[in-house]
Amino acid sequence: MDRNKRKTILVIDNVTEDIEAALAILQDFNVLSCTSQEDALEMVRNQQTDLILLDMLMTDRDRICSALKKNPDTQNIPVIFMTANTDEKSIKKIYDVDGADYITKPFKPRQLIARVKIQLRLQEVLSKLDFISTRDTLTGMLNRKRFFELGKSMFSRSGRELYVLMIDIDHLKKINDQYGHDVGDIVLKKVAHVIKEILPPDAIFGRMGGEEFSVMYTAQTHERSMDIVSEILKTVSQARIPLNNGGSISCTISIGIGRKFSEFNTLDSLLKEADMTLYEAKESGRNTSIFRDR
Ligand code: GH3
Ligand code: MG
Ligand code: MG
Repeated sequence: MDRNKRKTILVIDNVTEDIEAALAILQDFNVLSCTSQEDALEMVRNQQTDLILLDMLMTDRDRICSALKKNPDTQNIPVIFMTANTDEKSIKKIYDVDGADYITKPFKPRQLIARVKIQLRLQEVLSKLDFISTRDTLTGMLNRKRFFELGKSMFSRSGRELYVLMIDIDHLKKINDQYGHDVGDIVLKKVAHVIKEILPPDAIFGRMGGEEFSVMYTAQTHERSMDIVSEILKTVSQARIPLNNGGSISCTISIGIGRKFSEFNTLDSLLKEADMTLYEAKESGRNTSIFRDR
């Protein structure tokens, strides 16, 4: 029951008696309701909604559905239609607009609760799967595939204010050799979390593989961007990684910086620039960053 309490269901129906009937049956859930398209869309915008119950006879039914499907924030909310008509033509309409399921009016309480629970459970499983398939299992940061998906979209909508960082832990092999692979793993996790804390909230941050991370963010000024890089270098080098014997170690990183100058017209070319400057940072002694102005 606890799990359901936290779930929010929005009931959209122009007949208030039907809303009341649904509310009486769905007492174990957090149920919101409204009677118009405008209110419905406003409510899903302002409030995390897990499931929608939509009356099949709402005149704005199709407009509500298409508005939900168009918005990436709401397109995955399952919509269960409420209908008194169960002929083949009516059912076809439900699935044509991507309805997840339907329930019949007047409500059969057991049916309503069961169908609602199935959709909520399915949604939970799907979002867990989505999370797992887009994260790096060790650090919890984005995996390479997701980084590129989000990165391409950020690249295409940004101008010169866009920066890419390639970050590589210095001498991780030595740490593995001296303290063991487990400690190496802890170093990777610690570095990832320290970096994440410093980045602007809308930055994209992923583990590209091995001990290499990538970041993309936009900065209002070049100075602001370089401040972020300096802060990352400093904070990582000052972080202590505890050892089992009571002691602790620290590590450093090297950072290659790329900025979206006009010559970089693909994300790949910008990442290549950051890769080159990372290489230069390693060559010049590590624990540093390199940026090449153009
Ligand atoms: P450099 O400063 O030149 O980057 O030195 P490095 O030792 O960090 O780099 P190198 O490319 O020589 O070796 C990468 C090391 O990173 C070796 C590898 O075992 C370690 N590594 C990569 N992925 C992981 C991981 O998931 N866990 C641990 N513990 N180590 C990893
Ligand atoms: Mg390294
Ligand atoms: Mg490396």
